Amino acid sequence: LGFGNITGQNKIKDILYSSIIEERLSHAYAFCGPAGIGKRTMAQDFGKLLLCTNTLISAENGKNILSECNKCDSCMTFESGTNPDFNYIETSDDSIKIDTIRNMQKDILLAPMYGNKKVYIICDAHKMTHQAQNCLLKTLEEPPQNVVILLTVSIFENLLETIRSRIFKLDFIKNSDEEVREVVLKKIGMVENLNFIISYCDGNIGSALKIIQNEDLMEMRTKITNYILDNCTKSSQNNLEGISILEEYKENIDEALDIIEMFFRDVLVIKTGSNQNILINSDKKDIIKRNFVEFSTDKIISCIDLIDKVRGGLHQNANFSLAIEYLVLGLNEEFL
Ligand SMILES: [Zn+2]
Repeated sequence: LGFGNITGQNKIKDILYSSIIEERLSHAYAFCGPAGIGKRTMAQDFGKLLLCTNTLISAENGKNILSECNKCDSCMTFESGTNPDFNYIETSDDSIKIDTIRNMQKDILLAPMYGNKKVYIICDAHKMTHQAQNCLLKTLEEPPQNVVILLTVSIFENLLETIRSRIFKLDFIKNSDEEVREVVLKKIGMVENLNFIISYCDGNIGSALKIIQNEDLMEMRTKITNYILDNCTKSSQNNLEGISILEEYKENIDEALDIIEMFFRDVLVIKTGSNQNILINSDKKDIIKRNFVEFSTDKIISCIDLIDKVRGGLHQNANFSLAIEYLVLGLNEEFL
């Protein structure tokens, strides 16, 4: 108990699922890692599986795979968000207070409705006050047989040592692109621009799911890349248009700069003949190839440097309009 397992998320899944199969389930787990990395999704999936009254076991590549049946009352009510054996403890406040934990403990006393387990997810458990944590400690010291508590935690150090030593800690690290793809396909299905989204979210499943729902970002990406592609094919550049596009995205300038930078990084990949599977704008591969074949690698690198320089300036409160103008003129100058 209490030791850290630094692993990718498929490994974490393996650890959790085999703890069910081998009947050495812990009564409390801490899912640790930055916001958006997939702790909550994992806790939900694990909770659903724990509660399913008719789990299926199958062998895959010599490993036993456990899956929920999606048919039992527990699975059905889980999907509709009404499974009384599955409980979220969460707050929109700064802290989770002792009363919240007391209410949870009262609920724990009630027998499960469907199977032989109840699952509680304490979201952002690092927000528990010391009183709340001391109260929870009583449950962890004498854990009821039928209860599994899952804590999602961004700052593990905020938990009292007495709590930390009684929970099984799993550290979430960045997902591989393949893991992000797998989750997106499972949760949402095929989406447009999936390669772009996967590269953009940088191994963070939560932000991938957010990006997919964020039409503005996808529109921004289309607008900006089209502008760049348009301009590099002309003999004279439309600086004003570039400036006005970026002015429009003043509130999201970091994302806008990311999109420009990713574009030029792709050009670099194509120019240097590196593995083109890693292209972010893979849907624009051919058009990038056609239009940037004459640009020197040095030029592309100075474009990327320029973007970084402007980003740094903006973070230090440089005048927005001047910085944007400097960027657009600078990029267009490289194209000439
Ligand atoms: Zn089921």
